[in-house]
Amino acid sequence: MSDYAALDKAVIHAQAFLDSLDERPVAVTATLQELRQSLDKQLSDSGMPPAEVIDELARDVEAGLLGSTTGRFFGWVIGGNLPAALAADWLTSAWDQNGATYAVSPASSVVEEVAGRWLKEILRLPQQASFAFVTGCQMAHVTALAAARHQLLANRAWNVTRQGLAGAPTIRILTSELRHESLSRAIGLLGLGLDNIDYVPVEQDGRMSVEALAAALKADSEQPTIVCLQAGDINTGQFDDFEAICPLAHQYNAWVHLDGAFGLWAAASDNYRHLMRGAELADSWATDAHKWLNVPFDSGIVFVAKPEAHQASLTTSAGYLVAAPESAREQMDWNPEWSRRSRGFVLYAALRELGRNGVANIVDQCCAATQRLVAGIDAMDGAEKLAEPIINQGLVRFLASDGNHDARTDQVIERIRDAGTAWFGGTDWRGKRAMRISVCNYRTTDRDVERALAAVSSALAV
Ligand SMILES: *Cc1c(COP(=O)(O)O)cnc(C)c1O
Repeated sequence: MSDYAALDKAVIHAQAFLDSLDERPVAVTATLQELRQSLDKQLSDSGMPPAEVIDELARDVEAGLLGSTTGRFFGWVIGGNLPAALAADWLTSAWDQNGATYAVSPASSVVEEVAGRWLKEILRLPQQASFAFVTGCQMAHVTALAAARHQLLANRAWNVTRQGLAGAPTIRILTSELRHESLSRAIGLLGLGLDNIDYVPVEQDGRMSVEALAAALKADSEQPTIVCLQAGDINTGQFDDFEAICPLAHQYNAWVHLDGAFGLWAAASDNYRHLMRGAELADSWATDAHKWLNVPFDSGIVFVAKPEAHQASLTTSAGYLVAAPESAREQMDWNPEWSRRSRGFVLYAALRELGRNGVANIVDQCCAATQRLVAGIDAMDGAEKLAEPIINQGLVRFLASDGNHDARTDQVIERIRDAGTAWFGGTDWRGKRAMRISVCNYRTTDRDVERALAAVSSALAV
C-alpha cells in the first residue's frame, strides 16, 4: 500500500465525521478511562502501515470527539470549519511549507500579504497597520503587548530588547475586571506584572467607565500606560466605548490594545458595525479566525497600528537567513514564532469562499440565532433571560421553586448535555449561575435552533 492510501482514508473518515454532524450526539460519549483504554496501546518497535494507523486513529478517538463543530454547540466561543478553509488546511499540511520567511516559501509569504490586506479591509482597520497570523488570540495579545511595551519604553529612551525590564520604568495597565484571562496571561508572560494592572470600574452595562478611566489616566499622567479594551465580552458580548476612550488615552500617550477575539468581526456587518465605532483608533487589535471566521484551529490574528514598534519588538537576524526581495513579507519580522505553519493559506481560502457578504452573513446569522435562542428560552416556564443579547452571546438561567436557582441552572445545563442534542456552557455572572449561549458557527440553521430549544424544553420538563 502506498503512503497515499492513508490520505484516501483520511478523506473517507473526515467525510463520515462531517456527514454525522447533524445526528451525532454533541456531547462526548466516552469516559476518560474508556479513552485511555482504546488509545493507550503498546508502542511498537516496527511501526505499522499508514492507512491502518489512520483507520485505527479515527476509530479510537471517535467517542471522545466533542461535537463542537456541529450547528447545535453553543459552549465557549468555538466556531466551525468552512469547506474551503478545511480543504486548504489539508493542503497546508501536504505542502508542508515553513511560513518563517519569504525564502522558505514565497507562496506562503505572498498569500499572507494578500490575506492580511483583505482582513484589514473587512475589519475596517487602518490599511497601514502591520499584522501577523499567530496561533490564537492569546498569542495575538502577547505580540501586541510586546509591541506596546517596546514603544512605551522606547519613548522613555529605554530599549527593552537590549536592557530588559529590570530597572525600566514601570508600565501600568488599565483594563476592567471583565477582561479575558488570556490578557492577564500575556501580561504575566511579558513580565509586565499582574500587580501593575489597575482595574477601571465598569458601568451598569458592562462598559468601562470613561470617567473613571479619565481620572486614572490623569492621576498618573506621566506613567507609561497600556489601556486594554474589549470588543465582545464573553458573557454579554458588550463593547467598550472606543470612540470616547481611544482619543482620551492618546492624550496621555497611552497605548490602546483591543481584545476582539470574536467581537472584531462585528465590523464586517452593516447591522453590527456601529458597535465598533472608534475601534480603528486603537494601537493594536487581537482577534481569532478560528472563532467567528470559521476556519479550523488554530488561527489568531494580531494587527498593530505602528508597524515600526511591532517589527522592532520582534525582528532578528541570523547569518543563515536568505535575503528576500526588498518589498517581500518576512513573516518572522512580525511573528513571535520562527518556523511555523503557513496559516495564510486557510485564511486566504476562507475569505475567497465567503467574500465580504459571506463574512457579514455569518455574523448576522449567528446574532439572529442567539436572539431566537434567548427569546425562546425566556418564554419557557422556569427560565429567564439575564441580558438582552448585543451580538452572538446570550445569558439565561433556570428557576427553582425552592429558590436555589444556581443549582437548578447547573442541573438543567447538565441534562441538556446528557441528552446529546445541544451543548451549552455555564458561567458565573454578577453573582448568579447562568447558561451561556454562544453562537459562532456558520452551520447553525433555523432547524438547529428549533432542535436546541426543544432540548432545553425537555430538560426543563424533568
Ligand atoms: C477566546 C478568547 C480569547 C482567547 O483566544 P484564544 O484563541 O483561545 O487564544 C481572548 N479573548 C476573548 C474575548 C475570547 O473570547
